[in-house]
Amino acid sequence: MLGKTQVQVPVLGLGTWGIGGFSNKHLGGERDAVRALQLGIELGMSFIDTAELYANGHSEEVVAQAVSEARERVFIATKVSAENLSSERVLRSCESSLKRLKTNYVDLYQVHWPNPRIPITETMKAMEQLVGEGKVRNIGVSNFSVQQTREAQDALSKIDLASNQVEYSLVERSIEEDLLPYCTREHVTIIAYSPVARGKIPSGGRGDKWRTLDDIARKYAKTTAQVALNWLIAKEPVVAIPKAANLQHVRENAGAVGWNLSRRDHDALSAAFS
Ligand code: NAP
Repeated sequence: MLGKTQVQVPVLGLGTWGIGGFSNKHLGGERDAVRALQLGIELGMSFIDTAELYANGHSEEVVAQAVSEARERVFIATKVSAENLSSERVLRSCESSLKRLKTNYVDLYQVHWPNPRIPITETMKAMEQLVGEGKVRNIGVSNFSVQQTREAQDALSKIDLASNQVEYSLVERSIEEDLLPYCTREHVTIIAYSPVARGKIPSGGRGDKWRTLDDIARKYAKTTAQVALNWLIAKEPVVAIPKAANLQHVRENAGAVGWNLSRRDHDALSAAFS
């Protein structure tokens, strides 16, 4: 379930940073990217995360191509950039994202990064206006601390804050100190970004912790990426959005669900990577 809502979201979704280019629009390669996203949807990862920032909006255009036959089956999350958090700009950014995504609503609209220069009350009021107009179904934030999450929650008067998207993986655990317990208590979904540490986890490394990961992967006849993703989503409020343009990576990541690490192996991994 997404936050306190009754909305079901797949525990594994599809990231899109780098799909359609990075900071600039990059034409070419779209067909492969579309195929990768469509394969992910077919395999059950029917939750796509994008942003107006990615490839200057072109990533959203690639997502539109990928979901053209399946819009209603896909949960689309996009983000408004930190420099666009004034009321007027939130409304304008959302319109532009909807045009690029070729849809009349997004399932989740997220504030990409906090911006201390714009009061969060102003941003959230505009977000709620978008919900009222049917253009946005749920509201989330990204890269917000506990304090900022609480302020965002308090700034919403009509609906609950659904999610906070933050970096979280076996190798990046800082949210476990305070944000993860807070979001667990408050029923705010954690959307874990860079969940395979941008490819570092599947590449592996030397030392005891990597040996522990390899041993556990072998025991379950899974890959290290699958084990690392399964470890993440075993936590109740956590869903993860690995990005994979390579079809083999998409298939592999889809195989991270449908089975469970034992509590003992889960804890052994937590301890090895602490
Ligand atoms: P990631 O998903 O941890 O890693 C992506 C990289 O790992 C790609 O190079 C991919 O290669 C490779 N990879 C994926 N699965 C693999 C597998 N099974 N085996 C080997 N390599 C694999 O990192 P990310 O892209 O930074 O994060 C995921 C998504 O989170 C982003 O795409 C974006 O949607 C979101 N994000 C949000 C923020 C934010 O500020 N809110 C920040 C960063 C990311 P190929 O592409 O070649 O398959």
